[in-house]
Amino acid sequence: MSEITAAAPVVPKKGLSDQVAIDIVKMNKWYGTFHVLRDIDLTVHKGERIVIAGPSGSGKSTLIRCINRLEEHQTGQIFVDGIELTNDLKNIDKVRSEVGMVFQHFNLFPHLTVLENCTLAPIWVRKVPKRQAEETAMHFLEKVRIPEQAHKYPGQLSGGQQQRVAIARSLCMQPRVMLFDEPTSALDPEMIKEVLDTMIQLAEEGMTMLCVTHEMGFAQAVAHRVIFMDQGQIVEQNTPSEFFNNPRSERTKLFLSQIL
Ligand code: ADP
Ligand code: MG
Repeated sequence: MSEITAAAPVVPKKGLSDQVAIDIVKMNKWYGTFHVLRDIDLTVHKGERIVIAGPSGSGKSTLIRCINRLEEHQTGQIFVDGIELTNDLKNIDKVRSEVGMVFQHFNLFPHLTVLENCTLAPIWVRKVPKRQAEETAMHFLEKVRIPEQAHKYPGQLSGGQQQRVAIARSLCMQPRVMLFDEPTSALDPEMIKEVLDTMIQLAEEGMTMLCVTHEMGFAQAVAHRVIFMDQGQIVEQNTPSEFFNNPRSERTKLFLSQIL
C-alpha cells in the first residue's frame, strides 16, 4: 500500500469487479444556506463494502439519504447502477427499488405483524402475489434467524429482533445495494452482536453495502474501505487496517483517539 498518498486516496478493490454500483461526482448539498455536503466524490463498486465514519453532524446520514433521494442534492451527480438521480420520478422509483435502507430506529409499521411488514412493499409496490411474498419473507426471516416471530407485532420484539426484521424487510425487495445508518446505535449492548452478525452474513454473501456505524470492529472485519467524513467532506479513505493503524489527517487521528 506504499503508493497511497493523502492527496490521492486509495480505492482498494481487492479483486472486486470493475462494475460500478454507485457513482457520486462532485456532489454538493445545502440545507437552506447551510452547506452540508461539499464536493463529494465517491465510487462504490459492486460487491464493495464501505463503512462511513465521522463525528456527529459531519453529514454521514445526509450523504446516504441522498443515495436514495430521501434528501435532494443541489449540484453534482449521483448515479445508482447507471441511473442518474434527478427530479425524474421514474428514475427515483427505479433507484429506490434497487436500494434498501436500514435506519437507527427500525421504522417498522407498529400495527402490522412482522410478516406483514415484510410483505407490504413486495405486494403493493412490486405486485408480487401474496403467497409468494410470504414465502420470500419467511426465507429472509429465517436468514435473520427470527422466523418464529413472523406473526408477532414489532412492539412484542426486542430492539435487536426489530432491527433484524427491518433488515429482512429490506431484503424482501431484492435490493442490489444496502444502506445502513447507524443500525446498532439504538440497541442495548447485548443486542448489537446479533444485528452485526446478520450484517456480516450479508457481507459474506456479496451484498454491496454502505454502512454508517461506530462499530469499528465491524469495519475491521468486513469493510473493504473506511471513509472518514468531517464537516461535510470526505477527509480520508483507506483500507480498514491502514485507516486504523496509520491515519493520515489530524482530524482522523483526533476522531480515532476519541472512539477507540
Ligand atoms: P451525521 O449523520 O454525520 O450526524 P447529518 O447528516 O445528520 O450528520 O447532519 C449534518 C448536518 O446537517 C448537521 O449539522 C445537522 O444539524 C444538519 N441537518 C441535518 N438534517 C437537516 C435538515 N433536515 N435541515 C437542516 N439541517 C439539517
Ligand atoms: Mg447520522
